[in-house]
Amino acid sequence: MRALLLAMAASAALLSGCQTVETTQEGAVGVDRQQRMMVSADEVHASSAKQYSQMMAEAQKKGVLDRNAAQVQRVRAITQKLIPHTANFRPDAAKWPWEVHVVSLDEVNAWCMPAGKMAIYTGLIEKLNATDDEIAAVMGHEISHALREHARERISRQMGTQMAVGIAGALFGIGELGQGLGNMVADVTLNLPNSRTHEVEADRMGVELAARAGFDPRAAITLWEKMAKVSSGGQPPKWLSTHPSHEDRMNDLRAYSAKVMPLYQAAKSGASAGK
Ligand SMILES: [Zn+2]
Repeated sequence: MRALLLAMAASAALLSGCQTVETTQEGAVGVDRQQRMMVSADEVHASSAKQYSQMMAEAQKKGVLDRNAAQVQRVRAITQKLIPHTANFRPDAAKWPWEVHVVSLDEVNAWCMPAGKMAIYTGLIEKLNATDDEIAAVMGHEISHALREHARERISRQMGTQMAVGIAGALFGIGELGQGLGNMVADVTLNLPNSRTHEVEADRMGVELAARAGFDPRAAITLWEKMAKVSSGGQPPKWLSTHPSHEDRMNDLRAYSAKVMPLYQAAKSGASAGK
């Protein structure tokens, strides 16, 4: 069934043709790379929205959705500061149906599905004892994956190679029938590791989003340091398995967070001038 769905999706993609696109403007950090897509953004966004609402309904049913009002309010306040600055990379993102929920799971994890459908797990907030700046670093990174449409790009690649995909979201008990594309979206967002290229792009755009929103971009560095500490005791964080680290990541984050410091300082002085 799954292979059939994939084959159908792949042939639909072949009929609509392969496109080369540039999903975002390069911003201050200069992310600039052409991407080949075999599925339309509209299809991916629609499937993502549907999948996300099913997953959140499932979380609700299991009693793990938005249990701590203060925590939810804190996370929403942070993401609401980040979102307007997505316009710097792509003006259409302001109209996306952005949504964030806090899921009570011990996993150190956070993600953003296409069209701005986000989740952060209590495990990340609590085990890392994450500061607002660090939560902004995680969510800025995740939002950047969505802005760059990395999920759509990865699905396109899978279609191209006709690679089989795993079953998405066992955690949320997602059914498989009739939602081939939705499952693929969840799979690439929640389960499969990002490529190094995608990680570098999300890191660089993420620090810019955070800086523009008035969060200290250097928190991306302390975030990774905390992640590494958590993983030294037993099971490594889920977030690290979907966001593989590489040796020069810390150097890149140091360089790019330094590069966007003026944006952070401007945002801070703008905020205090407005008070
Ligand atoms: Zn990532």
